[in-house]
Amino acid sequence: MKRELEAKVTAGERLSREDGIALYESDDLVWLGRLAHQVRTEKNGDRVMFNVNRHLNLTNVCSASCAYCSFQRKPGEKDAYTMRIHEAVAKAKEMEGEQLTELHIVNGLHPTLPWKYYPKVLRELKGALPGVNLKAFTATEIQWFEKISGLPADEILDELMDAGLESLTGGGAEIFDWEVRQHIVDHATHWEDWSRIHRLAHTKGLRTPSTMLYGHIEEPRHRVDHVLRLRELQDETGGFSVFIPLRYQHDFVDSADGKIRNRLQARTKMASPAESLKTFAVSRLLFDNVPHVKCFWVMHGLSVAQLSLNFGVDDLDGSVVEYKITHDADSYGTPNTMHREDLLNLIWDAGFQPVERNTKYEIVREYDKPTPQAQRRAEPQQVWA
Ligand code: SF4
Repeated sequence: MKRELEAKVTAGERLSREDGIALYESDDLVWLGRLAHQVRTEKNGDRVMFNVNRHLNLTNVCSASCAYCSFQRKPGEKDAYTMRIHEAVAKAKEMEGEQLTELHIVNGLHPTLPWKYYPKVLRELKGALPGVNLKAFTATEIQWFEKISGLPADEILDELMDAGLESLTGGGAEIFDWEVRQHIVDHATHWEDWSRIHRLAHTKGLRTPSTMLYGHIEEPRHRVDHVLRLRELQDETGGFSVFIPLRYQHDFVDSADGKIRNRLQARTKMASPAESLKTFAVSRLLFDNVPHVKCFWVMHGLSVAQLSLNFGVDDLDGSVVEYKITHDADSYGTPNTMHREDLLNLIWDAGFQPVERNTKYEIVREYDKPTPQAQRRAEPQQVWA
Protein backbone atom coordinates (compact mmCIF):
# COMPACT_ATOMS: atom_id res chain seq x y z
CA MET A 1 0.00 0.00 0.00
CA LYS A 2 2.83 2.39 0.90
CA ARG A 3 4.57 1.69 -2.39
CA GLU A 4 1.33 2.28 -4.30
CA LEU A 5 0.75 5.58 -2.54
CA GLU A 6 4.33 6.67 -3.09
CA ALA A 7 4.05 5.84 -6.79
CA LYS A 8 0.83 7.86 -7.08
CA VAL A 9 2.32 10.89 -5.32
CA THR A 10 5.49 10.74 -7.41
CA ALA A 11 3.46 10.50 -10.62
CA GLY A 12 1.33 13.47 -9.52
CA GLU A 13 -1.81 11.30 -9.53
CA ARG A 14 -4.77 12.51 -7.51
CA LEU A 15 -5.34 10.58 -4.27
CA SER A 16 -8.74 9.04 -3.52
CA ARG A 17 -10.86 8.96 -0.37
CA GLU A 18 -9.51 5.46 0.38
CA ASP A 19 -5.94 6.72 -0.11
CA GLY A 20 -6.57 9.52 2.36
CA ILE A 21 -7.92 7.12 4.97
CA ALA A 22 -4.94 4.79 4.40
CA LEU A 23 -2.54 7.70 4.91
CA TYR A 24 -4.20 8.52 8.24
CA GLU A 25 -3.94 4.84 9.24
CA SER A 26 -0.17 4.91 8.82
CA ASP A 27 1.87 5.49 11.98
CA ASP A 28 5.00 6.08 9.94
CA LEU A 29 5.20 9.80 10.55
CA VAL A 30 8.61 10.17 8.92
CA TRP A 31 7.33 8.53 5.73
CA LEU A 32 4.24 10.76 5.67
CA GLY A 33 6.41 13.82 6.23
CA ARG A 34 8.77 12.84 3.43
CA LEU A 35 5.90 12.37 0.95
CA ALA A 36 4.24 15.65 1.93
CA HIS A 37 7.58 17.46 1.87
CA GLN A 38 8.18 16.19 -1.67
CA VAL A 39 4.88 17.74 -2.81
CA ARG A 40 5.42 20.91 -0.79
CA THR A 41 8.89 21.33 -2.31
CA GLU A 42 7.60 20.78 -5.86
CA LYS A 43 4.97 23.49 -5.32
CA ASN A 44 6.82 26.00 -3.14
CA GLY A 45 10.53 25.13 -3.04
CA ASP A 46 12.15 25.91 0.30
CA ARG A 47 10.13 29.09 0.74
CA VAL A 48 7.97 29.85 3.75
CA MET A 49 5.45 32.60 3.36
CA PHE A 50 4.28 34.79 6.21
CA ASN A 51 2.44 38.05 6.55
CA VAL A 52 2.46 40.81 9.07
CA ASN A 53 -1.07 40.88 10.32
CA ARG A 54 -3.15 41.75 13.34
CA HIS A 55 -6.43 40.30 14.51
CA LEU A 56 -9.38 42.50 15.37
CA ASN A 57 -12.57 41.13 16.94
CA LEU A 58 -15.24 43.82 16.85
CA THR A 59 -17.56 42.00 19.24
CA ASN A 60 -17.57 38.77 21.24
CA VAL A 61 -21.34 38.85 21.64
CA CYS A 62 -22.82 35.93 19.72
CA SER A 63 -26.28 34.51 19.18
CA ALA A 64 -24.89 31.01 18.71
CA SER A 65 -23.29 28.68 21.25
CA CYS A 66 -20.98 26.36 19.33
CA ALA A 67 -19.78 23.55 21.58
CA TYR A 68 -16.06 24.17 21.03
CA CYS A 69 -16.16 27.96 21.38
CA SER A 70 -14.58 29.80 24.32
CA PHE A 71 -14.83 33.21 22.70
CA GLN A 72 -18.54 33.95 22.58
CA ARG A 73 -20.38 35.85 25.29
CA LYS A 74 -24.07 36.51 25.72
CA PRO A 75 -25.41 40.09 25.90
CA GLY A 76 -24.93 41.49 29.40
CA GLU A 77 -22.23 39.01 30.43
CA LYS A 78 -19.45 40.59 32.44
CA ASP A 79 -16.75 40.54 29.77
CA ALA A 80 -19.02 40.89 26.73
CA TYR A 81 -17.90 43.78 24.53
CA THR A 82 -18.78 45.49 21.26
CA MET A 83 -16.58 48.17 19.73
CA ARG A 84 -17.98 51.41 18.48
CA ILE A 85 -16.66 52.25 15.04
CA HIS A 86 -14.26 54.91 16.30
CA GLU A 87 -12.97 52.46 18.93
CA ALA A 88 -12.30 49.83 16.27
CA VAL A 89 -10.40 52.37 14.18
CA ALA A 90 -8.39 53.56 17.20
CA LYS A 91 -7.52 49.95 18.08
CA ALA A 92 -6.46 49.25 14.48
CA LYS A 93 -4.31 52.40 14.43
CA GLU A 94 -2.55 51.17 17.58
CA MET A 95 -1.71 47.97 15.72
CA GLU A 96 -0.46 49.68 12.59
CA GLY A 97 3.32 49.69 13.32
CA GLU A 98 5.80 47.28 11.72
CA GLN A 99 4.43 47.83 8.21
CA LEU A 100 1.24 45.93 8.84
CA THR A 101 -0.22 44.50 5.62
CA GLU A 102 -3.40 42.79 6.85
CA LEU A 103 -6.18 43.13 9.40
CA HIS A 104 -7.98 39.84 10.10
CA ILE A 105 -11.46 40.59 11.40
CA VAL A 106 -13.88 37.98 12.78
CA ASN A 107 -16.70 38.48 15.23
CA GLY A 108 -19.59 36.96 17.10
CA LEU A 109 -23.05 36.96 15.51
CA HIS A 110 -24.31 40.01 17.38
CA PRO A 111 -28.10 39.87 17.89
CA THR A 112 -28.85 43.60 17.61
CA LEU A 113 -26.02 45.36 15.74
CA PRO A 114 -27.46 46.61 12.44
CA TRP A 115 -26.07 45.33 9.15
CA LYS A 116 -24.91 48.82 8.16
CA TYR A 117 -22.38 48.79 11.03
CA TYR A 118 -20.21 46.29 9.15
CA PRO A 119 -19.62 48.09 5.80
CA LYS A 120 -19.27 51.31 7.76
CA VAL A 121 -16.55 49.93 9.99
CA LEU A 122 -14.67 48.53 6.96
CA ARG A 123 -14.89 51.88 5.16
CA GLU A 124 -13.57 53.74 8.20
CA LEU A 125 -10.76 51.22 8.71
CA LYS A 126 -9.74 51.44 5.06
CA GLY A 127 -9.76 55.22 5.25
CA ALA A 128 -7.55 55.16 8.35
CA LEU A 129 -5.20 52.41 7.13
CA PRO A 130 -5.25 52.63 3.32
CA GLY A 131 -2.23 50.34 2.83
CA VAL A 132 -3.65 47.50 4.90
CA ASN A 133 -5.63 44.62 3.33
CA LEU A 134 -8.93 43.89 5.06
CA LYS A 135 -9.58 40.16 5.43
CA ALA A 136 -12.87 40.03 7.21
CA PHE A 137 -15.88 37.89 8.14
CA THR A 138 -16.50 34.17 7.97
CA ALA A 139 -19.11 32.69 5.64
CA THR A 140 -21.17 32.28 8.83
CA GLU A 141 -21.10 36.03 9.39
CA ILE A 142 -22.05 36.69 5.76
CA GLN A 143 -25.07 34.42 6.16
CA TRP A 144 -25.89 36.22 9.42
CA PHE A 145 -25.79 39.53 7.52
CA GLU A 146 -28.28 38.03 5.03
CA LYS A 147 -30.57 37.27 7.95
CA ILE A 148 -30.34 40.67 9.67
CA SER A 149 -30.45 42.74 6.47
CA GLY A 150 -32.85 40.75 4.29
CA LEU A 151 -30.34 41.15 1.46
CA PRO A 152 -28.82 38.29 -0.57
CA ALA A 153 -25.12 37.46 -0.11
CA ASP A 154 -24.52 38.80 -3.62
CA GLU A 155 -25.47 42.34 -2.57
CA ILE A 156 -23.82 41.99 0.82
CA LEU A 157 -20.49 41.04 -0.73
CA ASP A 158 -20.76 43.88 -3.27
CA GLU A 159 -21.33 46.41 -0.50
CA LEU A 160 -18.53 45.02 1.67
CA MET A 161 -16.12 44.96 -1.27
CA ASP A 162 -17.07 48.53 -2.11
CA ALA A 163 -16.22 49.40 1.51
CA GLY A 164 -12.78 47.78 1.29
CA LEU A 165 -13.18 44.02 1.80
CA GLU A 166 -10.32 42.14 0.08
CA SER A 167 -10.85 38.59 1.33
CA LEU A 168 -13.23 36.61 3.48
CA THR A 169 -11.73 34.60 6.34
CA GLY A 170 -11.87 30.80 6.27
CA GLY A 171 -13.71 30.19 9.54
CA GLY A 172 -17.07 28.54 10.11
CA ALA A 173 -15.95 25.42 8.23
CA GLU A 174 -15.08 23.25 11.27
CA ILE A 175 -15.96 19.71 9.99
CA PHE A 176 -18.55 19.62 7.22
CA ASP A 177 -19.81 16.05 7.71
CA TRP A 178 -23.19 16.32 9.44
CA GLU A 179 -22.50 13.24 11.56
CA VAL A 180 -19.98 15.37 13.48
CA ARG A 181 -21.18 18.85 12.67
CA GLN A 182 -24.57 18.49 14.35
CA HIS A 183 -22.81 17.92 17.70
CA ILE A 184 -20.39 20.85 17.58
CA VAL A 185 -21.82 23.67 15.46
CA ASP A 186 -24.70 25.84 16.67
CA HIS A 187 -24.80 28.45 13.92
CA ALA A 188 -26.82 27.98 10.72
CA THR A 189 -24.04 27.86 8.13
CA HIS A 190 -23.31 24.34 6.99
CA TRP A 191 -21.60 23.01 3.85
CA GLU A 192 -24.35 24.12 1.45
CA ASP A 193 -24.21 27.75 2.59
CA TRP A 194 -20.50 27.85 3.41
CA SER A 195 -19.66 26.64 -0.10
CA ARG A 196 -22.34 28.89 -1.68
CA ILE A 197 -20.80 31.97 -0.07
CA HIS A 198 -17.18 31.09 -0.89
CA ARG A 199 -18.16 30.18 -4.46
CA LEU A 200 -19.87 33.55 -4.79
CA ALA A 201 -16.84 35.36 -3.36
CA HIS A 202 -14.62 33.54 -5.87
CA THR A 203 -16.85 34.55 -8.80
CA LYS A 204 -16.46 38.17 -7.65
CA GLY A 205 -12.68 37.84 -7.84
CA LEU A 206 -11.96 37.39 -4.13
CA ARG A 207 -9.54 34.64 -3.16
CA THR A 208 -10.37 33.09 0.18
CA PRO A 209 -8.73 30.76 2.72
CA SER A 210 -10.23 27.40 3.68
CA THR A 211 -9.99 25.81 7.12
CA MET A 212 -10.76 22.63 9.07
CA LEU A 213 -11.11 22.29 12.85
CA TYR A 214 -9.66 18.91 13.83
CA GLY A 215 -8.77 16.95 16.93
CA HIS A 216 -12.12 16.88 18.75
CA ILE A 217 -14.82 14.22 18.17
CA GLU A 218 -14.19 13.67 14.47
CA GLU A 219 -12.47 10.65 12.95
CA PRO A 220 -9.85 10.68 10.17
CA ARG A 221 -12.54 9.79 7.59
CA HIS A 222 -14.34 13.05 8.44
CA ARG A 223 -11.12 15.01 7.83
CA VAL A 224 -10.70 13.25 4.49
CA ASP A 225 -14.30 14.00 3.52
CA HIS A 226 -13.83 17.66 4.52
CA VAL A 227 -10.75 18.11 2.35
CA LEU A 228 -12.33 16.32 -0.62
CA ARG A 229 -15.33 18.67 -0.57
CA LEU A 230 -12.97 21.65 -0.61
CA ARG A 231 -10.86 20.06 -3.35
CA GLU A 232 -13.94 19.62 -5.51
CA LEU A 233 -14.99 23.24 -5.01
CA GLN A 234 -11.43 24.31 -5.79
CA ASP A 235 -11.63 22.35 -9.08
CA GLU A 236 -14.68 24.44 -9.92
CA THR A 237 -13.55 27.93 -8.84
CA GLY A 238 -9.80 27.90 -8.15
CA GLY A 239 -10.50 30.56 -5.54
CA PHE A 240 -8.93 29.05 -2.42
CA SER A 241 -5.50 30.48 -1.72
CA VAL A 242 -4.63 28.27 1.22
CA PHE A 243 -5.80 25.43 3.46
CA ILE A 244 -5.43 25.86 7.22
CA PRO A 245 -5.92 22.87 9.54
CA LEU A 246 -6.87 24.44 12.89
CA ARG A 247 -6.18 22.45 16.02
CA TYR A 248 -9.16 22.31 18.36
CA GLN A 249 -8.27 23.91 21.71
CA HIS A 250 -9.32 23.08 25.23
CA ASP A 251 -10.45 25.93 27.42
CA PHE A 252 -7.61 25.87 29.92
CA VAL A 253 -8.18 29.34 31.20
CA ASP A 254 -11.14 30.09 33.33
CA SER A 255 -11.96 33.49 31.97
CA ALA A 256 -12.78 36.41 34.25
CA ASP A 257 -16.02 34.90 35.45
CA GLY A 258 -14.50 31.45 36.06
CA LYS A 259 -16.74 29.70 33.52
CA ILE A 260 -15.51 27.09 31.07
CA ARG A 261 -17.59 27.56 27.95
CA ASN A 262 -16.12 24.75 25.88
CA ARG A 263 -18.76 22.02 26.13
CA LEU A 264 -16.60 19.41 24.36
CA GLN A 265 -13.93 19.61 26.99
CA ALA A 266 -15.10 16.76 29.23
CA ARG A 267 -15.15 14.23 26.39
CA THR A 268 -12.23 15.25 24.21
CA LYS A 269 -8.47 15.45 24.19
CA MET A 270 -6.54 17.86 22.03
CA ALA A 271 -4.60 16.48 19.06
CA SER A 272 -1.01 15.61 19.94
CA PRO A 273 1.84 17.26 17.99
CA ALA A 274 2.30 13.99 16.06
CA GLU A 275 -1.39 13.97 15.11
CA SER A 276 -1.12 17.59 13.99
CA LEU A 277 1.94 16.85 11.84
CA LYS A 278 0.11 13.88 10.31
CA THR A 279 -2.90 16.11 9.57
CA PHE A 280 -0.71 18.70 7.85
CA ALA A 281 0.99 16.00 5.78
CA VAL A 282 -2.20 14.19 4.70
CA SER A 283 -3.89 17.53 3.93
CA ARG A 284 -0.96 18.56 1.69
CA LEU A 285 -1.13 15.23 -0.14
CA LEU A 286 -4.91 15.14 -0.62
CA PHE A 287 -5.61 18.82 -1.34
CA ASP A 288 -3.50 18.77 -4.50
CA ASN A 289 -5.03 21.86 -6.11
CA VAL A 290 -4.56 24.35 -3.28
CA PRO A 291 -1.31 26.30 -3.56
CA HIS A 292 -0.48 26.64 0.14
CA VAL A 293 -0.95 24.87 3.47
CA LYS A 294 -0.70 27.07 6.53
CA CYS A 295 0.20 26.46 10.15
CA PHE A 296 -1.38 28.94 12.54
CA TRP A 297 1.42 28.80 15.10
CA VAL A 298 -0.72 30.24 17.90
CA MET A 299 -2.57 26.91 18.06
CA HIS A 300 0.47 24.65 17.88
CA GLY A 301 3.38 26.31 19.62
CA LEU A 302 6.53 27.36 17.84
CA SER A 303 8.48 24.10 17.73
CA VAL A 304 5.59 22.23 16.12
CA ALA A 305 5.22 25.17 13.71
CA GLN A 306 8.86 24.75 12.73
CA LEU A 307 8.47 20.99 12.29
CA SER A 308 5.30 21.48 10.26
CA LEU A 309 7.47 23.06 7.54
CA ASN A 310 8.76 19.54 6.86
CA PHE A 311 5.23 18.09 6.81
CA GLY A 312 3.67 19.98 3.92
CA VAL A 313 3.33 23.47 5.41
CA ASP A 314 4.76 26.46 3.53
CA ASP A 315 2.88 29.35 5.12
CA LEU A 316 3.01 30.62 8.69
CA ASP A 317 0.38 32.89 10.13
CA GLY A 318 1.35 35.40 11.18
CA SER A 319 3.03 38.19 12.99
CA VAL A 320 0.34 38.37 15.60
CA VAL A 321 0.46 40.72 18.53
CA GLU A 322 -2.87 39.88 20.06
CA TYR A 323 -5.17 37.01 19.22
CA LYS A 324 -8.22 36.77 21.39
CA ILE A 325 -10.07 33.71 20.15
CA THR A 326 -7.33 31.22 20.86
CA HIS A 327 -5.81 33.01 23.78
CA ASP A 328 -9.13 32.88 25.56
CA ALA A 329 -8.54 29.14 25.44
CA ASP A 330 -4.83 28.88 26.05
CA SER A 331 -2.46 29.16 28.95
CA TYR A 332 0.09 26.56 28.03
CA GLY A 333 2.94 28.71 26.91
CA THR A 334 2.28 29.88 23.36
CA PRO A 335 3.55 33.46 23.31
CA ASN A 336 0.96 36.04 22.36
CA THR A 337 3.48 38.29 20.70
CA MET A 338 5.54 37.52 17.62
CA HIS A 339 7.02 40.22 15.47
CA ARG A 340 8.53 40.23 12.01
CA GLU A 341 12.08 39.58 13.30
CA ASP A 342 10.86 36.65 15.42
CA LEU A 343 9.13 35.07 12.42
CA LEU A 344 12.20 35.51 10.23
CA ASN A 345 14.49 33.84 12.77
CA LEU A 346 11.99 31.05 13.36
CA ILE A 347 11.92 30.28 9.61
CA TRP A 348 15.68 30.58 9.10
CA ASP A 349 16.36 28.37 12.13
CA ALA A 350 14.11 25.71 10.59
CA GLY A 351 16.20 25.84 7.39
CA PHE A 352 13.83 27.69 5.04
CA GLN A 353 13.72 31.00 3.16
CA PRO A 354 11.23 33.54 4.52
CA VAL A 355 9.03 35.33 1.97
CA GLU A 356 6.70 38.06 3.15
CA ARG A 357 3.35 38.13 1.37
CA ASN A 358 0.16 40.14 1.53
CA THR A 359 -3.44 38.88 1.83
CA LYS A 360 -3.59 38.10 -1.90
CA TYR A 361 -0.38 36.06 -1.71
CA GLU A 362 1.50 38.70 -3.67
CA ILE A 363 5.14 38.85 -2.63
CA VAL A 364 6.03 41.86 -0.51
CA ARG A 365 9.68 40.91 0.09
CA GLU A 366 11.97 37.91 -0.31
CA TYR A 367 14.54 37.47 2.43
CA ASP A 368 17.91 35.69 2.39
CA LYS A 369 18.16 31.93 2.04
CA PRO A 370 18.91 30.19 5.34
CA THR A 371 22.50 29.53 6.32
CA PRO A 372 23.14 25.79 5.86
CA GLN A 373 23.40 23.96 9.17
CA ALA A 374 27.01 22.99 8.44
CA GLN A 375 28.05 26.64 8.20
CA ARG A 376 26.32 27.79 11.34
CA ARG A 377 28.55 28.88 14.14
CA ALA A 378 28.81 26.46 17.02
CA GLU A 379 26.82 28.54 19.42
CA PRO A 380 23.61 27.69 21.23
CA GLN A 381 20.63 27.95 18.90
CA GLN A 382 17.48 29.69 19.99
CA VAL A 383 14.95 27.27 21.47
CA TRP A 384 11.49 28.02 20.14
CA ALA A 385 9.09 26.90 22.84
S1 SF4 B 1 -17.72 29.79 16.86
FE1 SF4 B 1 -18.43 31.78 16.06
S2 SF4 B 1 -20.65 31.45 15.69
FE2 SF4 B 1 -19.97 29.77 17.05
S3 SF4 B 1 -20.37 30.53 19.13
FE3 SF4 B 1 -18.23 31.05 18.67
S4 SF4 B 1 -18.32 33.15 17.88
FE4 SF4 B 1 -20.40 32.32 17.78
